Amino acid sequence: MRSLVSLMYGSLATLLWVSSSFDLASAASIPRFQELETRTRADLNSNTVRRELGSRLSSGTLIFGPNDERFAGATARWNMFAPPQIQVVIQPGAESDVSKIVKYCNDNSIDFLALNRGHGNSRSLGSFNGVQISLVSLVNIAIQPSRQSAWFGGGVYGGLVTKYLWERGFVTTTGSCDCVGLLGAGLGGGHGRHEALYGMVSDNIRQLNIVLGDGRAINVSPTSNSDLLWAMKGAGHNFGIVTSFELNIFPRGPDTWHYHNYIWAGDQLEPVFNALNAFHNNGSTPVNMTTNFGSFFLNASVSTTDPILSWTFAYRGSAEKAEALLTQFNAIPAIYEEQGDVPYSQVSKAQATAEDDFICMDGNKRITTTAGLQVYNVTAERLIYEGFRSRAISNPALAAGCGILHEGYATAGVTSKNPADSAYPFRSDHHLMLFNGVVPPGDAVLEAQAWEWANEVRDMWNAGQPGRPANNYVNYANGFEDLDSIYGWESWRLQRLRALKQKYDPQNKFRFYNPIVEAREGKGKGKGKGKGRRRSFQG
Ligand SMILES: Cc1cc2nc3c(=O)[nH]c(=O)nc-3n(C[C@H](O)[C@H](O)[C@H](O)COP(=O)(O)OP(=O)(O)OC[C@H]3O[C@@H](n4cnc5c(N)ncnc54)[C@H](O)[C@@H]3O)c2cc1C
Repeated sequence: MRSLVSLMYGSLATLLWVSSSFDLASAASIPRFQELETRTRADLNSNTVRRELGSRLSSGTLIFGPNDERFAGATARWNMFAPPQIQVVIQPGAESDVSKIVKYCNDNSIDFLALNRGHGNSRSLGSFNGVQISLVSLVNIAIQPSRQSAWFGGGVYGGLVTKYLWERGFVTTTGSCDCVGLLGAGLGGGHGRHEALYGMVSDNIRQLNIVLGDGRAINVSPTSNSDLLWAMKGAGHNFGIVTSFELNIFPRGPDTWHYHNYIWAGDQLEPVFNALNAFHNNGSTPVNMTTNFGSFFLNASVSTTDPILSWTFAYRGSAEKAEALLTQFNAIPAIYEEQGDVPYSQVSKAQATAEDDFICMDGNKRITTTAGLQVYNVTAERLIYEGFRSRAISNPALAAGCGILHEGYATAGVTSKNPADSAYPFRSDHHLMLFNGVVPPGDAVLEAQAWEWANEVRDMWNAGQPGRPANNYVNYANGFEDLDSIYGWESWRLQRLRALKQKYDPQNKFRFYNPIVEAREGKGKGKGKGKGRRRSFQG
C-alpha cells in the first residue's frame, strides 16, 4: 500500500508551505455583524479567563493563550487562507462546561467559536476574533443497550468513531477522511462510505444536546425543540454548539472491504470518464460499491507536465464481487495498480484518507472551489485536464500544489430520503468536486493565479451540466458563493432557516461558518464569488 500512497503523494509532500503567520488580508474585507455589545474586554487573555472562569469549570478543563506551547497545535488548521483569530483556547473537560463558557463570553462581549477538528474551510471563519472552544476532550462514546444507536461527545471524529465501533461489531456514517470531525461534517450533511446504505451523517442523527448562543443548554429531538432538528441536519453550524448527540449505528457487515487503486495517464481520460458514467449510471451505483475518489495531480516520477489520473475504489465485500463490477476499469491500461482486502477500519488507509495522509495535513494555505454534479461531462473534464497541463508547462510552481478531486459515492441512501425532511438541500447531486490548490503564504501573484484557475475549473464543471444549478456543498464551500447555492435554491429553505435563526440565535452568535445571516449586505471582493449578494438579517 505504501508504494501507491507514495507514488500518489510523494511529489506533493515536498510542496508544503507551512504558514506560521495568519493571513487576514482577505478577512479584512469581510463585513462584521452589527455591534452586538456595548462593552468589550480589552484585557482578555488566558490568565484573566483562567482567574475569572476557571474555578467554575470541571477539573479537566484547559485554558491557554498564544504563549502556551499547546496553542499552536490547538489552533492548527487545514486551511490557512482565512483562519480565525484566536486569543484564548478553552478546552472544556466536561459537556456541562460549555454552557458556562458561552455565558462567560457573552457577559464579557467576547465572540466564541466551536472547534471540532479544524478543517472548516470558509472565508467567513476569517472574520472571527475571540475564544476558541475546543471540543477535543468530549470524545466519549456509549453504545446504547438497543445496539441500534450510540451517544457521542461533540468532539469525536471519523477515524476515532470508525475504529471504536468496528472493534465492537458496528459501523456508522462518518466522513470518508479519518481526520474530519463527525459533527463538523455531519451538521452540514456528512458524506461517507456508508451513505448508499444508510444516508449521510445528518440523516442518522436522533437527538442532540446543544448550547445556544445565550448559553442555554437544550435537547433537540423529534419531541423536544423539534423544529430545530430539521435545521441541524444540513445547516447546523448556524445554531449552537453540540456537546453530545445520539446517532444510529449498524451491524458492521462483511469482515473485509476490497479496494482497487489505479493510476492512469492523461490520454486515458475519455475511457476513464466514460467508464465512470456507465458505472454510476446516473446515481444507481450498486450500494456496496461505496466510494471512489479520483484526482488529477502532478507526480514528478511520472511526468512534470502531464497530470496523472489517480483513482481509488472501495467495495463493501469480497474481491470477487468487486472485481466483477470493475471490469471496465481493469480494461483501461494503467501506469500502476494495486488492490487488496482489509477490515473497514483500514479502508481509509488504503484510499489515502487516513489521519496521517497528505489530504489531512494541516497548515497549508489552500484555494478551493467546489461543484455538485450528477454525471461527468467528458468534454469538460478534458478541458479541465488540459488547463492543468498548460499550467504545468507555463507555471510549474502553481501546478505543483494543485489537486482536482472527483468524489463518486454510491448514493441510494441519500436520494431515497425526502429532500424536504432536512436542511441538506442537494440530494440529487451524485458527485462532489473540489479544486484544491496549495499556495505558499505571502505570494499574492500565485494566489491570484490559483483563484483564477479554481474559478475556471468550477465554471467548467457547472457549464458541463446545462440546466442544473451550481450547487456548493456547505462543507466544501469557500464562503464566497451565493447563499442559495449553499443552503438550497428553493426560497423556503433559507426563509425557514432564518425564522429558526430568529428563534434560536437572535443575537447571531453563530455567524462564522458560512452564515445564513450576515451583518449587512455582503461585499466580498469576489475572489471566488459568484453573482448575487448575501441578504442581511432582518431581525
Ligand atoms: C481533508 C478533508 C476531508 C474531508 N472529507 C469529507 C468527507 O469525507 N465528507 C464530508 O462530508 N466532508 C468532508 N470534508 C469537509 C468537512 O465536512 C468540513 O471541512 C467540516 O467543516 C470539517 O469539520 P471539522 O470538525 O474537521 O472542522 P472544524 O473547523 O472544527 O469545524 C467546522 C465548523 O463546524 C462547526 N462545528 C464543529 N463542531 C461543532 C459542534 N460540536 N457543535 C457546533 N458546531 C460545530 C463550527 O462552526 C466549525 O467552525 C473534508 C474536509 C477536509 C479538509
